[in-house]
Amino acid sequence: MITLLLIFLATVGVTAQEDYKEKRDIKETYINNEFHEVQKVSSANFETGQKPKNIILMIGDGMGTAQLFATYTANGGTLNITNMPFSGFVTTQSADDYTTDSAAGGTALSTGQRTYNGAIAIDVNKKPIPTILEIAEKYGKATGLVSSSAITHATPASFIAHNESRNNYEAIAADFLKTDIDIFIGGGKEFFEKREDGRNLLEELKAKNYQIFDSISEAHGSEEPPLAILTAPKHNSTWPERGELIPQGTAKAINVLRQDKDGFFLMVEGSQIDWGGHANNTAYIVKEALDFDKAVGVALQMAAKDNETLIIVTADHETGGMSIDGGNFEKGEVHAKYTTGGHSAVMVPVFAYGPGAEHFTGVMRNTDIFHKMMTLFEFQK
Ligand code: MG
Ligand code: ZN
Repeated sequence: MITLLLIFLATVGVTAQEDYKEKRDIKETYINNEFHEVQKVSSANFETGQKPKNIILMIGDGMGTAQLFATYTANGGTLNITNMPFSGFVTTQSADDYTTDSAAGGTALSTGQRTYNGAIAIDVNKKPIPTILEIAEKYGKATGLVSSSAITHATPASFIAHNESRNNYEAIAADFLKTDIDIFIGGGKEFFEKREDGRNLLEELKAKNYQIFDSISEAHGSEEPPLAILTAPKHNSTWPERGELIPQGTAKAINVLRQDKDGFFLMVEGSQIDWGGHANNTAYIVKEALDFDKAVGVALQMAAKDNETLIIVTADHETGGMSIDGGNFEKGEVHAKYTTGGHSAVMVPVFAYGPGAEHFTGVMRNTDIFHKMMTLFEFQK
């Protein structure tokens, strides 16, 4: 029976991007001995009713309140995220499931519609829905995606691709060519160049004037869009092995996108907080969330200078049913327990800073984040 199951899993071939879901590596305790500095930002520079020219949506995949509080404890009782002046809660249910997956969760945030689990920016009738990235592009804004997984994985995919299944990585990669995205940074290079249909999307990107790089450092000095920075064949490695890819990628993307006088939309994902949750591994969760918080710090620092950028930090769902039953701020120590190796259905937090941030309070649906962004975003045309 087990042999049959293994043959089945190998045959369907969905394991390439999804095998993190099978890796249970239970670790309840984590001690962090490297606290990072955090930004102190306030809402004093903004008036109620102000509209943002730029929006940066930052998604901690699987980051519920327990993941966040574990990370807060591990950093000595402070974070960039928890310094953001406005906060609320988000319900995460999908159209067909009380517990969402990242595809439906991403689609709710990117399109304002709840769909079935596994769907990438299509509705329950499998009809494509325009995403905020595509809408921003249509109105002349620059756009970008940064992810610590493959750039073709469910969360980033739901902002740029339309597909009935999150597992169709090659079709998702091909959808990048249908947009004029200005910069994307993440893994998944092989879905662009080693494809069953024989297309080489890297060549097609070059024909569309993209400069293609393998790392942020290789792209140093190249600020002229469009840029494709494909940092791994499949997924990026974990932190700290992958280095400062997400904080530096966030800085890189902002520097490239802010050149557009019409403003920009950027989505940054801390993908592997979710994978730590699936593994019930407190160390994995906290290290990934600390890295994500550093990226939030980069975005806050840059936004605090221009006063025209709204930053929203939220999650698509919680992973692991995590609860914290012990900790110590001085030691950066946290002890957690888990109720599932999958996702849970609880509300997740949302934090906001910048013009329009005051709208992100109270309890809202995941789809409301899209509608608030659309109402607030300042479009020139
Ligand atoms: Mg994700
Ligand atoms: Zn997950």
